Amino acid sequence: MGEKKVKFVPVFDLVNEAKKKLDKFKYKILVMSGKGGVGKSFISSMLALGLAMRGKNVSIFDADIHGSSIPLFLGIQGSRHYANEAGEILPVEGPLNVKVVAINLMLDSPDTPVVWRGPLVGRAILELAAKVAWYEADYLIVDMPPGTGDVAITVSQVFPSITGAILVTSPNTLTETIVAKAANFMASTGIRLLGVIENMSYFKCPHCGMVTNIMGEMSSDYFFAKYGVNLLGKIPIDPSINEALNKGKPYLLFNRESEAARAILEIVDKVINLVENTNNK
Ligand code: ADP
Repeated sequence: MGEKKVKFVPVFDLVNEAKKKLDKFKYKILVMSGKGGVGKSFISSMLALGLAMRGKNVSIFDADIHGSSIPLFLGIQGSRHYANEAGEILPVEGPLNVKVVAINLMLDSPDTPVVWRGPLVGRAILELAAKVAWYEADYLIVDMPPGTGDVAITVSQVFPSITGAILVTSPNTLTETIVAKAANFMASTGIRLLGVIENMSYFKCPHCGMVTNIMGEMSSDYFFAKYGVNLLGKIPIDPSINEALNKGKPYLLFNRESEAARAILEIVDKVINLVENTNNK
């Protein structure tokens, strides 16, 4: 048997390939958070669905390699990526035609942990960006890992003309430091911060309608005045989000009339307005 030849692709080529392919999207939006568990992946997937509900052509890239959960929120956990004849990875078709690229859809089982150090994760993002057969579309939503580590640096350097970033927080984590860090990261990379989404903002009792700020309250006016950061909206705590997740149903499609769903759709409309009416590719 002949010796198997391994073809090494110079990083430079990969970067150029990734840039060329990602230029197919009119708008590229990064969804970020200062820390894990604030609902960033839930919101990324619902923003993608919400944009699709508004008639947009959408792809979503799950760049949260260690915490990949977009397939779960979109109810396509059982799907797998295939390759075309040219060896490119084909995105998986999710609900409302949303195209999904996620490492979880390449593993033998979603329970398999991805045990990679930071630089390898950055390289995997680059490889995926370059090797996926991305389709021409209006929006690419990128679900970033929490914080500003290797992936954030790779994405900010490799992805061409990023439209902007959205920061997801919950009231208790919306400390000055987290907003300041995000604002500073954006400033250092030249990426526009479209605004902040306050998730798990409050709980409204389904019986008496009383509103409780379980996680505390924040003053959006203060953050706007100090850092110029817009509040895109507040999403309440809704137990049916996890119910939908457990049943493998995309929340926004099955609870369209809930307060959280309405808040998400209002945010979607604001985002469309912000990015499409400012001539910012
Ligand atoms: P992150 O990506 O920030 O780590 P996830 O999106 O994975 O967070 O969400 C963490 C958990 O919180 C999930 O179980 C998700 O279903 C739940 N969750 C997110 N937002 C809400 C909300 N507004 N109300 C109730 N549960 C929520």
